[in-house]
Amino acid sequence: MEKKRIGHVIKVNANMVTAQVEGSIIQNEVAYILHGEERLKAEVIRVRQNRAEMQVYESTQSIKTQDVVEFSNELLSVELGPGLLGQIFDGLQNPLPALAEKYGFFLKRGVYLEALADETQWDFTPLVKPQDKVLAGSWLGFVPEKIFKHYIMAPFSLGGSLEVVSIAPEGRYNLKQVIAQLKDSSGATHDVFLQQIWPIKIPIKAYAEKLRPLEPLVTKLRLIDSLFPVNRGGTYCIPGPFGAGKTVLQQLTSRHAEVDIVIIAACGERAGEVVETLKTFPELIDPRTNKPLMDRTVIICNTSSMPVAARESSVYTAVTIAEYYRQMGLNVLLLADSTSRWAQAMREMSGRLEEIPGEEAFPAYLESRIAAFYERAGVVRLYGGTKGSVTIGGTVSPAGGNFEEPVTQATLKVVGAFHGLSRERSDARKYPAIDPLISWSKYNSFINPEHQEAGHAILRRSNEIAQMMKVIGEEGTSLKDYIEYLKGEFFDFIYLQQNAFDPVDEATSQERQIYVFGFICGILNSEYKLEDKAAALHFFQQLRQSLRSWNSAEYGSQEFKKIEEKIELFLEKNKPEKTP
Ligand code: ADP
Ligand code: MG
Repeated sequence: MEKKRIGHVIKVNANMVTAQVEGSIIQNEVAYILHGEERLKAEVIRVRQNRAEMQVYESTQSIKTQDVVEFSNELLSVELGPGLLGQIFDGLQNPLPALAEKYGFFLKRGVYLEALADETQWDFTPLVKPQDKVLAGSWLGFVPEKIFKHYIMAPFSLGGSLEVVSIAPEGRYNLKQVIAQLKDSSGATHDVFLQQIWPIKIPIKAYAEKLRPLEPLVTKLRLIDSLFPVNRGGTYCIPGPFGAGKTVLQQLTSRHAEVDIVIIAACGERAGEVVETLKTFPELIDPRTNKPLMDRTVIICNTSSMPVAARESSVYTAVTIAEYYRQMGLNVLLLADSTSRWAQAMREMSGRLEEIPGEEAFPAYLESRIAAFYERAGVVRLYGGTKGSVTIGGTVSPAGGNFEEPVTQATLKVVGAFHGLSRERSDARKYPAIDPLISWSKYNSFINPEHQEAGHAILRRSNEIAQMMKVIGEEGTSLKDYIEYLKGEFFDFIYLQQNAFDPVDEATSQERQIYVFGFICGILNSEYKLEDKAAALHFFQQLRQSLRSWNSAEYGSQEFKKIEEKIELFLEKNKPEKTP
């Protein structure tokens, strides 16, 4: 057996601990600092001669020089296997509810729990037989997990062609029992369990090919699906100031998006925000199954009160779990809220390493790290031919809502869609506060492109007139222009805005969106004689009549009343004889 490599602490600087080591050190390997009864987890982030600079995932209080450091020879990894769904983990994959029972809400220093319960028995059904040839990632069998077939795969770490030596018969097994043996091309045999481990910073690539993301991911949010769509396997970014509705948007998408599995990486500013996520998510009901949404959700969470390295690792833990389920041919949505906290963790670590800082003191590699993270999204064709996808949506919370800052800018360079939240919209309680004038998407909508363009044109024109009216006032505006302005307001209010707390309005299916959008565009673009009050009123009355059938009548009619009031007001001020 290999002799345990050990070292001794020689320097402590906040969460950065330097150890002097006999023998080799591996970049990014996990080490444990032994302090009394405690074993504190750390990651080697820089190697200099026989010194390891380590980032400790714990408070380093009272760690002293000469404390022993044990090197594990392993990269920071997660356990992948049945039992992940429904769990809430911290960035190091400690199950939080289990921890909460034992140690209060967040973990005590040096306490790590098994991510997956070893003793649970799973009903295994084999899919291969001895002498079959398989590859890393091939499905060897499956166990039922919630509503899914959880495929047990040949370990991703094995290379080349593998031969099945033995496979367990149908039966109940726990995570510690060998369910298969595989022989690699060198003749070495490997035991396979229901679970495997994988280093979080390395993408899982056990598939035949990556495909272009071409299928829409229906979120049932009209503003997104109709105007700024996201495709399955694509990426998108939601920057927005505090309180603009990022978290609400994320919960809506979690519940309604047409995907199999949702992974939430909740990186909170305050403990309160994360506690809220932990409380609200378990109560959410899946509109498709009427069962808890948690049955197809995994939450990875941390707060800024947790050590910086644990915060930095959480998005990697989340994306690795997402990739794992993609390997089963499932469509996975990963929502990271907020990636700014992750970037800040990178900045802190870089600062402690005294690296040369880039813009706003973020490390120079900020962009490449962000790019590499979103790069892990994608649609893949598995060896068996089945497709799976990981879609990544990340929120960004730039200080003061300024999108010119490095994290937003780096993200915008790599994502396929941008849903920019605006303070102005959220202050006006126009939800979702995604600003249609600044947002964009590179993906195709299921909405007819002509209709889509007409929708954008109505909003642009309406905004132009609104800007003009700010200068010259309503009096100087022609009736025709005013109606154009109202068309935009109208389209926004009744179609784009969507009340998250109205059971009818919160989600609109693809069919309904296609129908209603086409309908609205048809009416808004048709020619009306608008030279007098009666004609103008008739125009909006007509709309009202036609749209009555859509959604809850009260919701629509409130806005019609408002629009009618506005028209009255406008017409009062601009008597028909005065208008051009
Ligand atoms: P953020 O995460 O950006 O800080 P939140 O998602 O917590 O903001 O939203 C703040 C508040 O705005 C919510 O508590 C809610 O009252 C309101 N809100 C946000 N989005 C919506 C929505 N789609 N429909 C109705 N209210 C919303
Ligand atoms: Mg939030």
